[in-house]
Formats: sequence, structure tokens, C-alpha cells
Amino acid sequence: MSNKPVAIITGASRGIGKAVAKELAALGFYIVINYFDFRDGKPDDSAALQTEKEIKGCKILRGDVSRAEDRNKLIEFTKQNFGRCDMLVNNAGVAPAKRVDILEASEESFDRVMNINLKGPYFLTQLVANWMIEQKKQFADRNFRIVNTASMSSYTSSPARGEYCLSKAGVSMMTMLYADRLAEFNIGVFEIRPGIIMTDMTSVVKEKYDKLISDGITPTKRWGLPEDIAKAIGAIAEGRLDFSTGQVINVDGGFHFRRL
Ligand code: NAP
Repeated sequence: MSNKPVAIITGASRGIGKAVAKELAALGFYIVINYFDFRDGKPDDSAALQTEKEIKGCKILRGDVSRAEDRNKLIEFTKQNFGRCDMLVNNAGVAPAKRVDILEASEESFDRVMNINLKGPYFLTQLVANWMIEQKKQFADRNFRIVNTASMSSYTSSPARGEYCLSKAGVSMMTMLYADRLAEFNIGVFEIRPGIIMTDMTSVVKEKYDKLISDGITPTKRWGLPEDIAKAIGAIAEGRLDFSTGQVINVDGGFHFRRL
């Protein structure tokens, strides 16, 4: 069994997840990276292999978080390699393949986005939470924490990507549910709400967001960076928010507050 704490991070071959993996590795965690790169309909491990090179001692495993079989494999893989899991970061997520008005949007896109963004983390958390409860019985002095990546879309309407907003609103409720259920075991559950963060996901709408930011949609007039999210999750990993289970941490340059 590993003598260092272990974190599972989903969707961590690139973007926000990769920055979180680097941050937690720097804080002394061994990292298990889940990823599901498909480029032009074919599996492509290049980003994950590159990330593996950059983070000493990390292990990578391809898997689709929306599939039960792949979630089970991720847990078995972590057990075999490290024998423990101290932290889970549910980060993997997708935008709709195409933005379509809710008056026209398809069930197919709804199912895809909800399965990856909500069903996947909901049931992965169930697996990890049960394993953490077992570990807690044996190692009472260890700290266990779970972080869910929601979004400003949890509470902001974008009618051209309704399924994304619904999935993230679901992640917000999921955080409260697990924070409530796991409090008796002293397992902290937290929600990160990123604002507009510069990654592949937002690269397709870069010009639109450049303008919104320069026009003042966020009080802090800059793009968020994956490292901004990673620092906030780092603070959770260090135990600085342990009495704040269920807390929502907005990492959005002030987007969330009302202004007059
Ligand atoms: P990204 O650059 O597109 O990365 C998304 C990650 O999710 C990738 O590592 C991707 O892995 C992984 N992923 C996608 N489908 C998956 C699946 N079925 N199984 C496992 N992994 C899967 O996006 P990002 O901006 O870093 O987003 C990370 C999280 O932050 C998401 O939950 C997103 O909704 C949330 N968020 C982002 C922003 C933003 O402005 N960027 C704002 C609010 C919330 P592969 O590449 O390996 O497929």
C-alpha cells in the first residue's frame, strides 16, 4: 500500500484536470488520471502519455466515466496500484457537441451530456465513498475528501445549451447530498464552480468570451486559468476547508455576485 495519499482525478489528461493533477502531485499525492481522448472517432492516448511524463509517479487509465464498467475498472486499477484513495476530483465533463436552442435540442445530446457530467460522477462518487468509509474504519487518522466540478452554469441560464446547465445544476445538488451523507464519516465534499476558464472547452467560443470579458461580464477582467481552479482544489487537499463540507467555491473572478 502507498505511504503517500492518493487522488483520483477524472478527465485529467488536459485542461483543468491536468492542472489539478500537477497541483496535487506537488502537494505530495500520488495521482490516478482517468481520461477518454477520442480524436476523429479514434482513441488517442497522446495527451495522457504526455501528462504521465510530466507528473512523476502518476498512473493513467483510459475510461469513459459514463460507463459503469469503466468506473469499476478505475477503482480496481487504483486498488491494485496504490491500495488507497484519499481524494476524488470529479472533473471530467463535456459541453454539448453543438449549441442548439432548447426548443430544438435533441434527446441524444441530453443523454450524452447528462451521462458524462452527472450520472458518471454521481456513481463514481458512490463507489469511492463506500471505499473511503471502509478505509476510514481501518485508518481513522487519514483525511478523505471529494471535490465536484460544477460551473457558473449551475445557476446561469444558457438556453442554447440547456442540457449542460441541467447537468451542472445536478452536480451542485449531488455535492450537497454527498456532503450530508458522508459528514458522519468525516469525509468532506466540496463543489468548485469555475467561471470562464481558458481550455479546449472554451476555445470554440474564445472571441465571444474575449468580448464579454473586456465589456465587464466578470468584475475581474481576465480569463480564468486552469491553475486558478487547481489552487482552490489544492487548498481543499491541504485540509484548509475541512469544517466547510458542502461549501461551494466560486472560482470565477467575481461573476457570481450581483452588481448595481
Ligand atoms: P476540457 O479541456 O474539454 O477537458 C475535459 C476533460 O474531460 C478532458 O480531460 C476529457 O478527457 C474529459 N472527458 C470528457 N469526456 C469524458 C468521459 N466520457 N470520460 C472521462 N473523461 C472525459 O474541459 P475543461 O475546461 O478542462 O473542463 C473540466 C471541467 O470543468 C468540466 O467538468 C467542465 O464542465 C468544467 N467547467 C469548465 C469551464 C471552462 O470555462 N472551461 C467552466 C465551468 C466548468 P479526454 O480529452 O481525455 O476525452
